Amino acid sequence: MEQRIIHACGHEQGHYLTGFDSQQERKVKWLKTTSCRDCFVAEKRAEEAAAAALSNAAISHLDLPPLTGTDRQVSWASTIRTKRLAVLINSNSGVDCYACLQVTDAKWWIDRRDLTDVDLMAAAAQASEVQSATAVTASITDMHRTA
Ligand SMILES: [Zn+2]
Repeated sequence: MEQRIIHACGHEQGHYLTGFDSQQERKVKWLKTTSCRDCFVAEKRAEEAAAAALSNAAISHLDLPPLTGTDRQVSWASTIRTKRLAVLINSNSGVDCYACLQVTDAKWWIDRRDLTDVDLMAAAAQASEVQSATAVTASITDMHRTA
């Protein structure tokens, strides 16, 4: 049977409760202390927006290179990059973030989104080494070509 519950936010919402009476009673008590579904979603969204705004502010002084990839990859990766860089900058006072700033491959950010900060920085350092190694090889090839 559906029960109408008045939530802590003041909105009424229907809930289908199952289980023994005592379990249902406990559930009702708990539900009354929570926000309704709409308010919960709105609160979550607001929290995320506030966190994103904080992250954006933390990295606003950085001159970030544009990411490369498909539109979907780029938009997802830029959210990840903003969040991760903001944390790195706040915790590390800018130490060693440099390598992370250089990675513009959207897929790289997406694939490594679950790495710890330390692992992420190590991966970035590796990626930038590979990049500069490729650059060195390229310039050596160029030298040979011009010689
Ligand atoms: Zn509500």
